Amino acid sequence: MKIEELQNLRVAIIGGGYGGAAAAVALDRIGVKDVAVYEQAPALGQVGAGIGLRPETVERFRRWGIFDAIAAVSSPSDHLEILSGDGQTVFAQEEWPNRHAFAEVNDTRIIHRGDFIEAFANALPAGSLRLDHRLVGIVDNGATSTLTFANGNVVEADVVIGADGIRSLVRSTFFSDKAPVFAGEHAYRIVIDIEDAHGLVTDDNPRFYMGQNGTIAYNLPLRHRGQLSYDITAPSDDDTWAPAITNDYLVSLLDGFDERIVQVARELDVAQVTSRSVYDIDPVDQWHSDCIVLIGDAAHAMLHHQGQGANSAIADGDAIADAFAQAGSVAEALALFQATRKPVTDELQRISRAGWNAEAVEDAFPGQH
Ligand SMILES: Cc1cc2nc3c(=O)[nH]c(=O)nc-3n(C[C@H](O)[C@H](O)[C@H](O)COP(=O)(O)OP(=O)(O)OC[C@H]3O[C@@H](n4cnc5c(N)ncnc54)[C@H](O)[C@@H]3O)c2cc1C
Repeated sequence: MKIEELQNLRVAIIGGGYGGAAAAVALDRIGVKDVAVYEQAPALGQVGAGIGLRPETVERFRRWGIFDAIAAVSSPSDHLEILSGDGQTVFAQEEWPNRHAFAEVNDTRIIHRGDFIEAFANALPAGSLRLDHRLVGIVDNGATSTLTFANGNVVEADVVIGADGIRSLVRSTFFSDKAPVFAGEHAYRIVIDIEDAHGLVTDDNPRFYMGQNGTIAYNLPLRHRGQLSYDITAPSDDDTWAPAITNDYLVSLLDGFDERIVQVARELDVAQVTSRSVYDIDPVDQWHSDCIVLIGDAAHAMLHHQGQGANSAIADGDAIADAFAQAGSVAEALALFQATRKPVTDELQRISRAGWNAEAVEDAFPGQH
């Protein structure tokens, strides 16, 4: 679209997570002036846990001029290691895909989710963030949409980007009324001090320990904070949103694991653990109308085993801006966005569901080289 058209476009982004923030930053960089990010919460925030920002994501930060801000609150990792639960066998030790694919070497950056959203929030276009705005209704008028928020505000926009997460109202209103799918597992996440990690942290690289019983212990070092993000994912039939747990229960999941991992489970402050049932969604056939589009988890929530959900949401934010820059109209841009991104995320959803098991870790990054 022409620069004058982009400058006059009224864009409403629903959701101030990684996808919404990325879209706002990327659209600002191509000259869209009227971007508003409507977030239901009173402040931007994320669960306390680590996350790995892949080399291609890091390259986007360089392009957007926010690499230094992200690097200041993250640690560089060159490879990922996948081991048996007892730590005795290394199943895979692989460099992150695309580390050398750009002009500069891009390590994966391991970052605390809260630090990441804070760095992103600082990069948002001035005045674009509208907190305490929970979308409760949306009408597609063809070439514009009307948005109604719980606080009574009503807004008209030329483009609505639904970045409102796995339980997206934008998706359920227009594109799919299928509920999220329970994965039959829980994720328990806590950030602990390295001094309480019994020597588990020796460098900046994540290590995933695969038990025989389906339990996976994910260790993501946050050495710049003197901390370790300690995550356990384990099978369970209980689909309550925030399952109750005890130290003894966590220890019982870690039968046969490296004693240091078990010791952490024994000692951690269980009140500080974020305990969640894990869900994804089935692929959604259509992500857009002529003026409304889904991105991130709203479009393609996937299981966390490949660590690609947030990275994909950020890639979507970039791709939607690219589509506006290339296409001749809003409707064309939204179609181009879906054509570009859906084949990639359909495959990531599939691979993430396939998961790993301790007998079959042949490739740490299936389909991602
Ligand atoms: C256990 C676990 C570990 C993970 N680990 C990784 C990892 O290592 N790497 C990785 O890349 N991904 C990981 N993910 C996935 C990642 O967290 C998600 O894919 C990512 O957060 C999706 O970003 P998003 O912006 O699309 O959605 P979200 O982060 O869910 O953001 C949606 C935002 O929309 C807001 N919102 C919702 N409804 C409304 C409304 N009606 N009105 C206004 N605002 C609304 C919400 O408050 C929220 O701020 C993990 C996920 C889990 C569960």
